Amino acid sequence: MEKIYVVGHKNPDTDSICSAIAYAYFRNKRVERGELKGEAVPARQGDLNPETKFVLEKFGFEPPELLTDATGKKVILVDHSERAQTLDNIDKGEIIAIIDHHKIGDITTPNPIVFIAMPCGCTATIIKRLFEIFNIEIPPNIAGIMMASILSDTLYFKSVTTTKKDIDAAKELAKIAGVTDLDAFAMEMFKAKSDVAGKTPRELLMRDFKEYNMAGNKVAIAQLELINIDIVKDMKDDLYSEMEKLKKEKGYHSILLMLTDIMKEGTELLVLSDKVEIIEKAFNKKIEGKSVWLEGIMSRKKQVVPPLEKAFSG
Ligand code: MN
Ligand code: MN
Repeated sequence: MEKIYVVGHKNPDTDSICSAIAYAYFRNKRVERGELKGEAVPARQGDLNPETKFVLEKFGFEPPELLTDATGKKVILVDHSERAQTLDNIDKGEIIAIIDHHKIGDITTPNPIVFIAMPCGCTATIIKRLFEIFNIEIPPNIAGIMMASILSDTLYFKSVTTTKKDIDAAKELAKIAGVTDLDAFAMEMFKAKSDVAGKTPRELLMRDFKEYNMAGNKVAIAQLELINIDIVKDMKDDLYSEMEKLKKEKGYHSILLMLTDIMKEGTELLVLSDKVEIIEKAFNKKIEGKSVWLEGIMSRKKQVVPPLEKAFSG
């Protein structure tokens, strides 16, 4: 049977990996029913972060296979629709579907495709809805990784991206997965997420790294979500030097690192820019030195990208 790869964004997070696995399972069920053709295979564009490793081990999944180039492949994209975040040579492959919860990106297709976008906190929330619409039962282990994706993307419902749909979905999935103590599970997961021990500054910078095109400028925004950002207090200078190196290497106009404190519910933003005034305008804050504290800001997608886009184009 022809393979169709289901893949999330570069520098994959828990949602990008687990939604690829869940959507591949969902689609293969529809193939079994004779509704669709092909064999969906989950894939990943890069190494797993420690949180995702923890989640896959917990529910008994192997990491999906590595895929970085779309040449000659049929693909389904989950958790992104930006060219900068997708497979290399995406135009030499064929996109079958996109399932996403971010702003609509700049990927276009020559043919009509299935394109499902919803403004909720997690791709897994959309996929849960699809299971329901098509009346397909969710197995406990798939429910477990979908639940974990929602807790991860919404920072256990603290992020402004959280919708009622996400909370309801996560609670229902927890029941199916047999997870009785959601607080304990989330804490365990965030501890895994906060693991920075033995990692190089480059590894930490790339862990959750996204590239954007803002009014013709290459902008990179990395994020580390930590239970307590003091964990990286002594590493800040090294992280900053690494940002400088990467900026030169890749020719970024701006490179930002969000050190997000899950407990304090805010972000220390490390900033390196050809035009720091744009960043200052975006957040309406003076940036003295290397960083600025942004109270209440935890979501790159909803609280950092939109004001930056606006500042760049204004
Ligand atoms: Mn993601
Ligand atoms: Mn996501």
